[in-house]
This record gives sequence, C-alpha cells and structure tokens, in this order.
Amino acid sequence: MSGNGRSPAGGGERANGGGAEATTAGAAPGGPGDPATGSQDPAATAVASPIDRAFDDRRPPQIELIEDCVHCGFCLPTCPTYVLWHEEMDSPRGRIVLMKSGLEEGSELSPTMVRHFDNCLGCMACVTACPSGVRYDKLIEDTRQQVERHHERDPSDRGLRRLLFETFPRPGRLRALAPGLILYRRLGLDRLVERSGLLERFPRLRALENLAPAASAADVLRPLPTFVPARGERRGTVGLLQGCVQRVFFRRVNAATALVLSAEGYDVAIPRAPRCCGALMYHTGGREAETAALARETIATFEDCDHLVVNAAGCGSAIKHYDHQLRDDPEWRERAGELAGRTRDLSELLADIEPRAERGPLPLRVAYHDACHLAHAQGVRAQPRELLRAIPELDLVEPADWEICCGSAGVYNLVNPEAGRALGARKAANLLATEADAVASGNPGCSLQIRAHLEEACRPLPLYHPAELLWASISGRPLAGAP
Ligand code: SF4
Ligand code: SF4
Repeated sequence: MSGNGRSPAGGGERANGGGAEATTAGAAPGGPGDPATGSQDPAATAVASPIDRAFDDRRPPQIELIEDCVHCGFCLPTCPTYVLWHEEMDSPRGRIVLMKSGLEEGSELSPTMVRHFDNCLGCMACVTACPSGVRYDKLIEDTRQQVERHHERDPSDRGLRRLLFETFPRPGRLRALAPGLILYRRLGLDRLVERSGLLERFPRLRALENLAPAASAADVLRPLPTFVPARGERRGTVGLLQGCVQRVFFRRVNAATALVLSAEGYDVAIPRAPRCCGALMYHTGGREAETAALARETIATFEDCDHLVVNAAGCGSAIKHYDHQLRDDPEWRERAGELAGRTRDLSELLADIEPRAERGPLPLRVAYHDACHLAHAQGVRAQPRELLRAIPELDLVEPADWEICCGSAGVYNLVNPEAGRALGARKAANLLATEADAVASGNPGCSLQIRAHLEEACRPLPLYHPAELLWASISGRPLAGAP
C-alpha cells in the first residue's frame, strides 16, 4: 500500500498508540476539509444555483434514475417501514415520488417530506426486490445530502446527531468512553437505571443504553498489529479496514479476520488510518466535507494492496460507492472507482479461492442474519453461507423474513428508536424461532441491535461474526461465550 508516494500502509497514522486518530489525506489540520473540525471545503459548500425548489443543483437525486421506477409496487412487502405502517409515502415507491416532487420548480422541502426520508432505513431491500433495477441506493444517498443541507433540524435531533458523529467515527473518543461503559455494567448501574423508569420516558436514551456495547478492557485498549504475515505459500497482500466502532468494540472480529486471511495465505496490512471510512455519516447524509475527506484517505491508504478486505457490511457498501460519492471530484473519482473494484467483503474474497486451511468441527446450530448492507447493498448472500456450511458439524439455519432489516441501519435505531425497536423485536423473534444456539452476523450494528433485542426477550444468544466462526474452526480454539 505504499510505493506511489501517496500514503504508505499505516503511514497516515499517528504512532500514538491504539487510540490514534489519523490525519486525513488531502486535509490540512484546521483547514478546508479537515475532519477534526468538520469545516467545509469549497466543493462541499458551493450550490450551483439559487434554490427555487426543494433540492439544489448540486447532485440532486437524478431524474433518469427516478424515472426508472414504473410504480409496480413489488418492493413494498420488503420495505420495513411499509411493513410497519402501510403508508405509501413510507415505501420506496412513495419516497421516489417525493424525490421527483422535490425537483419540481416551486417545491419546498417540507418537514413531512423530511420525515418520510428520515424514516427510510437505507436498508436497500427495495434494490434487491425491484425488477426494474431502480437504483434507490443512489437516489436516497443524494436525497439525504440535500436534506442535511436545507432542512433545519430541531435542537434535540441536531444535538443527538452531533453527539453520535463526534463520537462513533472517532476510535480515540470511543476508547476514552469505554472504561466508563465497562464500569457502568460491572457496577450494575445499568440495572439501577432500568429500575428507575427513566428510560421509559426517553426512548432515545433507552436505545443508547440498550445498544451500548459490552467489551473487555483488554479488547478495547489493545491495538492489533499493523501487519500479519501469510502462513505458507503467499497468495498476495490484502489491506484490512479496521473501522471505527469495529476496531474498538469488535477487536476480536478484526483479529479473527486477519488470522483467517493469514491462514489462507495472505499478507495482511492493518493500517491504523483511516480512523473511519465515513460510512456512518455518508449513509445519513451529513458532514459531506468530512465524509469525503475520510473517503479520500481510505483510497490513498489502500491504493497498493491487491484487495481491500472489509468485514463490516456498512463500510463495504460505502467504499463500493466511493465513485458515486466523489463523482464531482476529478482528481479522486477514478481512484475511488478503482478501489471500489478491489474492495471485497471477507466472505466474497474467501468464497473465490480454494481453501487451504483445514476446517475443524464446530458443533453448533447457527442462524445466519443477513446484514442489509451486505445482502441488499452489495448482493452478498451466498458467500457467507457457503463458508459457514463448509465448517464440519456446523448446522446453518435460516430465520424467516431474512430480507427485512433488523432496525439497526447505522444510527437509525438511535435517531428513530420506536421503529428501530419494533424491527429489532421482529428480528429477535424470527431468530429465536430457529432454535439456534448462536447467531452469525457480518455487521457490528446488527450484532448490537440483535443482542439488545434478544436480551429484551430474555433469551440471549451468543453472536459471532462469520470470521470468528471460521477462525475457531481453523484454529481449534474455543469460541468465547459458546454454549
Ligand atoms: S422501486 Fe422498483 S419495485 Fe418499487 S415500485 Fe418502483 S419499479 Fe416497482
Ligand atoms: S431502503 Fe429500505 S426502508 Fe428505505 S425505502 Fe428501501 S426498503 Fe424501504
């Protein structure tokens, strides 16, 4: 990932321990595009014409994509918000109609329109279901940025979003919060707060509390090595994206991913930069300059590896859309497309190669949960299943309604807690109906959401990333928390 003078593997990171938050390629500290300050670069603030309609001229949802929709309604049964509320404007078809109306002269971005766009989970189940190939993913990404540019959110919504985006994409800050979180659970304060009734009155606080990850201090504070060599004959070099929440609260997933790749013959470069790929903010539409700067840094960091391997569905889908995100940036759009073409979910990469590492038995009944940003946004469904079925004695079972989102959807369950909760409860019930011993999920947000709702149903189950199951099978080591 070095050799072109841009950014060597790990070279963009600050060597200040595991809590390092890297500077961003192309962004001077405190200057335009500096993610630390969130300051805007000129490209991000320029609006091409005075607004005489809901959307401005800078990357509005594209009319030619809107017109691909023939209003057939095949997408409706797979749309979680339509399933919950049976409201046309909370369906993909309805939202596409709203997008079209936002392009019309004299239209206004009303609070009602914003509510319907905000209600969308961005799960992309409609993309999978649509027989006309409507690119709702591109449409909603552009629409959300318009909403963030032109809609004034109420102070509590604004404050919550600011808190989330100042914390989640910053591993250094997450690590600083982790000891308090660990103590909060160890001292039983969570049970005290639960009994106080406070959480019932504040649904967003309840969502934050329920979803707070459980992790050990050793996992949170110990960084991964920046390089893991291939075992046996070398197949190539891959870069592994550490992510933001993933690296702090799911270190074991990243470690298992690196060890599986190494066992399969890959040198694994694990740079500390970028601190985040920008997915969380990109999928929500805010902080365009910061998100673009993080995308550029990710591109520069992984430019020279054979593949960029991602083990968090949301990150993978965002990186595969970098060319869409940076399409107005002549310097970066080609590089973005090139990286997008080399980016693979771990399961995609492994399913494409002949396995070398011997798999040992793992006698476990596992329900596979399709993360929307893997199954719908990237079309990756068969590969993780193939890999898990190849583990001797592992019994893979399928929950009902695989295509319906678990309600996590980035920060959706925190900003829209009621809908997130209803969908989380549905997903937990479907998973429990499989009578599985454990759940496999390829996305940290889904794992947190499912864990919270299984606990709420008083039937907790261990949750594993497929990488953890694979590594347990290859290494013969016991799985943490296995029944
Ligand atoms: S998005 Fe696709 S499936 Fe949904 S109404 Fe339009 S054409 Fe039909
Ligand atoms: S992305 Fe998901 S929630 Fe949004 S319209 Fe499509 S199916 Fe519905």
